[in-house]
Amino acid sequence: MKQEVSISKFDNAGVPLWALAFLSLAACGPGMEPASEEPMTDVEPASDAEPVTAVVYEGARVIAGDGSDPIDNAAIVVDGGVFVAVGAAGEVAAPEGAASVDLSGMTVMPVIVDAHVHMNTSRDALINDLRQRAWFGVGAAVSMGSDDTEEALAVRGEEIAGAARFRSAGLGITRPEPGRRVVHWINTEEEAREAVRTEAARNVDLIKLWVDHRDGQYDQLTPELYGPAIDEAHQHGIRVSAHIFYLEDAKGLLRADVDMFAHGVRDRDVDDEFIELLAGQPDTVLIPNLGARGVSTDLSWLAGAFSEEEIAELEAAADNPDVREAFGIQARNLARMSEAGTIIAFGTDGNTPWAPHVEMEDMVISGMTPADVIVAATRNSAAAVGLEQMGTIEAGKSADFIVLEADPLEDITNTRRIASVYMRGEAVDRTAYGSP
Ligand SMILES: [Zn+2]
Repeated sequence: MKQEVSISKFDNAGVPLWALAFLSLAACGPGMEPASEEPMTDVEPASDAEPVTAVVYEGARVIAGDGSDPIDNAAIVVDGGVFVAVGAAGEVAAPEGAASVDLSGMTVMPVIVDAHVHMNTSRDALINDLRQRAWFGVGAAVSMGSDDTEEALAVRGEEIAGAARFRSAGLGITRPEPGRRVVHWINTEEEAREAVRTEAARNVDLIKLWVDHRDGQYDQLTPELYGPAIDEAHQHGIRVSAHIFYLEDAKGLLRADVDMFAHGVRDRDVDDEFIELLAGQPDTVLIPNLGARGVSTDLSWLAGAFSEEEIAELEAAADNPDVREAFGIQARNLARMSEAGTIIAFGTDGNTPWAPHVEMEDMVISGMTPADVIVAATRNSAAAVGLEQMGTIEAGKSADFIVLEADPLEDITNTRRIASVYMRGEAVDRTAYGSP
């Protein structure tokens, strides 16, 4: 994805036609003006020169997503859908003739990577799910084991304007669980290995295991079954993400070299033995996936996407005392694992496009700093699922970013105050929620 752009390409004073189209497309965003002194009507580039396609975004505070200090009054140069340069204004060479977008007073962060979702599996419905995510600044979504159709997996290879990227764990692996949507039900080591081989042949991005007896309802994957599954996946060069609930299973999976937890430990507070096991597996990733706090919460910020009635229903549904207790355990475990240095990534489960903005607040309530939560939701999450072209605002990466009206480092709920979203350098059309 990395694209080399030589500065000599910018020796051109004209504003190209495409840039004017871009400016009108993005006109609902913050104030912007072409950098060129040329009259707007003079759009024809010099006959033998390449048109200038770079755009400079100036004046914002930039949160790179890698944990570094934010850059105030930054300049971001985007060309060919990638970041070409990022730095303090005055230290970044703006290509001559590039269009300019004024983002003074705004904060820019990378798009969010939601590394645990379950979306629709028919093509059109899936693409709609991905569009709704882009509307909320979610630039990629990773389906965790419920993709039974080839048409869903095929969407991974597409770049769809205004839609989040898609990655998939294909179909996950569990013991027979009547009622669970179609997955691989396995009972023997050979069946475990065969299920992994089947998914590897589908070229999945991860292997998903469910290790959970669902409160005694079912037999669950044992070390004798998930161990070989993990081994088989690693032989195919595929990382393994495990749904867990119980601390003992989390320990067993660490001993079996699991790569990623798709949830935190939810039955009890983690103990010293678990933290020691984690220390011996420093590459293990936790997707905390806190779910909900169980308290009614103000969702008025969803006004652009939902009606007042819909928002009132969502707010009422959030109130749940059982969930409150479960949240406490998960929150303490997240805080402890984060303090212990575990790599924290980010996911929300289910199919709620706006959930990442609630999850980020919940992670801060658990004790992580807003800066750490943003790193989890951007760089760490992208890296965990192999989206190397995403996750940070730095030269060479895809120009996928959110423009916010306020700074989420000061208040994480400011991630909801979205002015505009860009994917591959193009503004996502946010005039109507989820529409093509
Ligand atoms: Zn899930």
